[in-house]
Amino acid sequence: MKRKVLLIEDNEQNRYLVKYILEKAGHEVIEACTGQEGIDLATSEHPALILLDIQLPVMDGYSVAKELRRVASLNRVPIVAVTSYAMPGDRERVLESGCSGYIEKPINPSTFLSEITPFIEDTSPGASP
Ligand code: MN
Repeated sequence: MKRKVLLIEDNEQNRYLVKYILEKAGHEVIEACTGQEGIDLATSEHPALILLDIQLPVMDGYSVAKELRRVASLNRVPIVAVTSYAMPGDRERVLESGCSGYIEKPINPSTFLSEITPFIEDTSPGASP
């Protein structure tokens, strides 16, 4: 099923790769390069899934996730962190910031879709109260 996915990522090559994979699978991708742009787009576009880079300039992904969770209409949107951080405790920090899950970089093009599928399967856009 076609989903609208918001990708918040400052690296152009990573954006290109993720967009390519998702569009090939029939999804719609909207892109933001900064956290603030991502928050604005999430609020206006109501995506079914948000893919969030943690290493962003100015406002890091943890802060972006916390801000997104403060928006009532986005409270239940799945947020999946995509990050190369691999220090002990990073996964916990990601989840504590409000993210629903965690995918490690570098992205594996052959498994990426199956990794995000559990987060979009149970979501019906517009159905949340
Ligand atoms: Mn980055």
